[in-house]
Amino acid sequence: MDVKGFDHAIGMLDRAAARLMESATNQRGKKPEKSFADFELAEEMKNAVKMLKRSTPREPELEGSGNVWWFDCPGCRGEVEQKDSFCRKCGQALQWEKVTK
Ligand SMILES: [Zn+2]
Repeated sequence: MDVKGFDHAIGMLDRAAARLMESATNQRGKKPEKSFADFELAEEMKNAVKMLKRSTPREPELEGSGNVWWFDCPGCRGEVEQKDSFCRKCGQALQWEKVTK
């Protein structure tokens, strides 16, 4: 699966988690036990989405101008070292092949 297919799959999981969260909210008063279990499941799905997003390599963004420039992490906006495979702050996987200064 290419990056677009992977992003699509992550988006599906993200939307499913949001729907489950919404349904858990709607039945909070009626079925508290089921609601609690659904909330926990939705939270786990959202954590999985975060981890999947971090492990999908993304291109760092060039910032600055003239002689002063650096690269920002697409995940946390922190500065990343050129050619690092992962952001040292948030763990976002980085892809440098097409990135040019
Ligand atoms: Zn980062």
